[in-house]
Amino acid sequence: MAETGVILKDIRKSFGNVDVIHGVNLAIKEGSFVVFVGPSGCGKSTLLRMIAGLEEVSDGEIEINGRDVTDLDPSERGIAMVFQSYALYPHMSVRENLAFGLKMARTGREEIEARVNSAASILKIDHLLDRRPGQLSGGQRQRVAIGRAIVRKPDVFLFDEPLSNLDAELRVSMRVEIARLHRELGNTMIYVTHDQTEAMTLADNIVVLRNGRIEQQGSPREVYENPANTFVAGFIGSPR
Ligand code: ADP
Ligand code: MG
Repeated sequence: MAETGVILKDIRKSFGNVDVIHGVNLAIKEGSFVVFVGPSGCGKSTLLRMIAGLEEVSDGEIEINGRDVTDLDPSERGIAMVFQSYALYPHMSVRENLAFGLKMARTGREEIEARVNSAASILKIDHLLDRRPGQLSGGQRQRVAIGRAIVRKPDVFLFDEPLSNLDAELRVSMRVEIARLHRELGNTMIYVTHDQTEAMTLADNIVVLRNGRIEQQGSPREVYENPANTFVAGFIGSPR
């Protein structure tokens, strides 16, 4: 029987002759919230981009819900990615920004409207649908960016440091929103951050990376109480 969730089998990545991911094996349970955490440059984004299909693997296999997606295009993988830079279209309204990807995929007009309204309601941005990105706050823009992922109804959400451009207060409230989103939607979510507090509060499972290798994985509590080594202890335990 095919396994569900996201499975990484001995994933490797080199850029030219520089090896940046050295054989990562990982099984992510369907519906769980997994956080990749580790210092800048350890390979978090590269790993996430390979799962998304935005970056080819140099070696290894990726399975999503029982399907080998290693050689599939991003649009065929059942994923949606939310980036740190919101990359909204400035000349389009929020509604048009939310609908754009679906229009490109030739989704029907009524279906688009239903999905846009549903996403807007989940994210509490119904009242902003006719505004342009320039008329929104940073937090509102980030909600629209998340909305663009929701309307696609992906099996798996991928987040790459989605809150790192926000100020401290907004980061906390958006963190709570993302946790709520996970409870409401129940999708698998893979979330990259270098922020230990985000990792500890959001994750069902934390994957601690260092220099392109997994140092430890486990529940926030396991990793915090039983760090595998001094690197994990220092990274997870260090005050911010
Ligand atoms: P993180 O997201 O954890 O900060 P990255 O995945 O962005 O780390 O980068 C991991 C390593 O791979 C870094 O040493 C980075 O310089 C290198 N790297 C990332 N993308 C490229 C690229 N397109 N070309 C060459 N090297 C890259
Ligand atoms: Mg990164």
